[in-house]
Amino acid sequence: MSLPLVLHVAVPSPLRRLFDYRPSRTAPECGWCKGIRVRVSFGNRTVVGIVMGVDSNSDLPYADLKPVTDVLDDAPLPEDWLQLCEFTARYYQYPLGETLAHALPKLLRQGRALEAQTRERWKVATQKNGTPFSEEEKSERLGRATRQKALLALLEQHPLGMFSSAIMAHGFTRPQLEGLEYKGLISHQQEWVTGGASSSKPLLAEPALPLNREQGEALSRLHQVINEFAPVLLHGITGSGKTEVYLQLIDAVLRRGKQALVLVPEIGLTPQTLSRFRKRFNAPIVVMHSNMSDTERLDGWEAARSGRAKIVIGTRSAIFTPMQALGTIIVDEEHDNSFKQQDTLRYNARDLALVRGRRENVPVILGSATPSLETLLHARQGRYCYLRLTQRPGNAMPAKLELVDLRIGQRRGGIGAVALKAIKAQLEAGHQVLVFINRRGFAPTLSCQACGYVFECSHCDARLTYHRQPPMLLCHHCEHRWPIPDACPKCQSADLRPLGAGTERAEETLAELLPDVRILRIDRDSMRRRHALEEAIDEIKRNEPCLLVGTQILAKGHHFPHVTLVVVVNADGGLYSADFRAPEHMAQLLVQVAGRTGRSSLPGQVLIQTMHPDDPMLTTLTTEGYDALADQLLDERRMAQLPPFQHMALLRFEGAQMEQVMTLAQEVADTARAHIQQHQLPALCMGPSPAPMERRQNRYHVQLLVTSEQRSARHDTVACLIQALAQHPLARRCRWSVDIDPQLMG
Ligand code: ADP
Ligand code: ZN
Ligand code: ZN
Repeated sequence: MSLPLVLHVAVPSPLRRLFDYRPSRTAPECGWCKGIRVRVSFGNRTVVGIVMGVDSNSDLPYADLKPVTDVLDDAPLPEDWLQLCEFTARYYQYPLGETLAHALPKLLRQGRALEAQTRERWKVATQKNGTPFSEEEKSERLGRATRQKALLALLEQHPLGMFSSAIMAHGFTRPQLEGLEYKGLISHQQEWVTGGASSSKPLLAEPALPLNREQGEALSRLHQVINEFAPVLLHGITGSGKTEVYLQLIDAVLRRGKQALVLVPEIGLTPQTLSRFRKRFNAPIVVMHSNMSDTERLDGWEAARSGRAKIVIGTRSAIFTPMQALGTIIVDEEHDNSFKQQDTLRYNARDLALVRGRRENVPVILGSATPSLETLLHARQGRYCYLRLTQRPGNAMPAKLELVDLRIGQRRGGIGAVALKAIKAQLEAGHQVLVFINRRGFAPTLSCQACGYVFECSHCDARLTYHRQPPMLLCHHCEHRWPIPDACPKCQSADLRPLGAGTERAEETLAELLPDVRILRIDRDSMRRRHALEEAIDEIKRNEPCLLVGTQILAKGHHFPHVTLVVVVNADGGLYSADFRAPEHMAQLLVQVAGRTGRSSLPGQVLIQTMHPDDPMLTTLTTEGYDALADQLLDERRMAQLPPFQHMALLRFEGAQMEQVMTLAQEVADTARAHIQQHQLPALCMGPSPAPMERRQNRYHVQLLVTSEQRSARHDTVACLIQALAQHPLARRCRWSVDIDPQLMG
């Protein structure tokens, strides 16, 4: 007698375990196996879960197991995809059920059927010369397979072919179809439910560019590793033609019948980027990003999974797109912070790309002009294949960076005299200028001139930003807004002054100083309207003289041939931050912004305003460049025992009462430290300490830091902390989260 089956099901729940169920009366067509979605009753809810294991063992008596309510799939979700999710849950120490739910499109998570978008049409095959097989040939190939014979007979009655669902309705199974296909007697093609079969146009819609020497060398190295896992850093200055190398690699991958997955930063997924891919290839391209409708997302997912989509371009979450025949993963701007998710499942899509590439045995290309120190260290140590592009095609010259001492002379709206003069000169010559300012609003502070009072958010430990369009005081941390006050609440003086400059103020001042100049302010506030950014970019591309005042939105990806001057209003934000990554991020941003100019035959100039013109980091960056600064920063990290030389985890705690949060963090930290000592782990658990911004939205924030030179010791220590938290009564009154390889220390 065979033992009864037990299904181990992952359900979306913070509990870090699987739950056992009995099979329902109806089984999926493929039988019970890992990867089948089911509906189960869980507590007092019904949820969608995924079967992660099938055997006959359970800690509970079989009679106590509830049967699953519904079977949602007839075939399992792809095994590669399931493994990627399992790895993600393990590595980021996040509940598996919630990880799976995170990685699934919402409609699948809610129980929608999977096969809606493509279907398979099966037809009787002919011989190579197009004539039908003879009866003898058929019976020789069929052998004694009677069901296959019956299936072939069925298909012979349908010269246009039949869809899988119709065939199954006649009582046939997938293995019978595949068996006949293997024998060469039938064949199938994937069809898009709404459209016809795929086109027969040539793959390239426009010819590839002839590569320069460096690009050519990079591409031929990539060809050497095209069939295997290879981590590659493509380190090329902005405008050196990295994208052209990606395009030609993808071409080679598609010709092998494989698919390409391209990850880009959130801000990099512009219509411009997409149109470059669409112009080049006559192949189905699917875009995956966070602002898609649920149906679009499901369609994209399905197109990638079935193999119909050849190229998938997406932001961070696209790393979880299942691919029928993955051929390469490209991570563009790999240093970008948006690859790291900053809440719930705090994964890093760049790191997962490497994990996925290794599992699926494909090359992973990390591209950047300013690689992260992590990636750079691996490349320098020879663990990644290191490819460099140091020149721009044609005669475009990278712009030189110059520091401008802001302590000298007058400033208006954040702009000093030197910068103003340069701006005027470039505009008069008919060129465009970009003024980069990393703060939106009018001014970062409003203060009382009489007593020095500064307006702060009453829910956060933060100053309020003064906005004029529309007028308000806004907290950039909790989005709370207040009307502009008439007088100081402390001394009643009406002399309130905005201190410092944001984009609105820079725009206003420049408009006064340069009355005849067209000024475009480009930040999150001015670009709220749909298509506002595209319209602004279209206008810039008309190449008429204009002044762009903008934040990060303008820093990346765009190619503006007529911008000959970039002014960075203030570079000092990253210099004295508590976050050890701040200098690295600042340097990346400055180089990125500088890359907006000098991209055509016109030479480019970059002026970086600072109050600290002698700062060693700024001087290294401007005189020797990013690589030299990266070396310097790596040395500092090595000495200070920081990543990438150590592995970190950050545990964040928050609650309505500081005392409770502190007690909780303190007690679990003690448990972890005892564990470290008992097992002699090479790990440290530091803290608790208040977060850099202790109070946010009236909640108190505390953190613990775990570091180790071994990932396994870090993992073990964090696991111990999680276990202690699961048992601690205070944990129910506080919120806590685990951040493995944190990118932001706040
Ligand atoms: P990156 O991705 O490194 O910033 P791009 O691939 O966007 O650089 O290239 C910058 C510009 O140079 C683009 O306009 C691109 O069309 C052009 N370009 C790239 N490679 C070549 C080449 N081999 N010959 C001529 N132009 C090229
Ligand atoms: Zn006052
Ligand atoms: Zn606030």
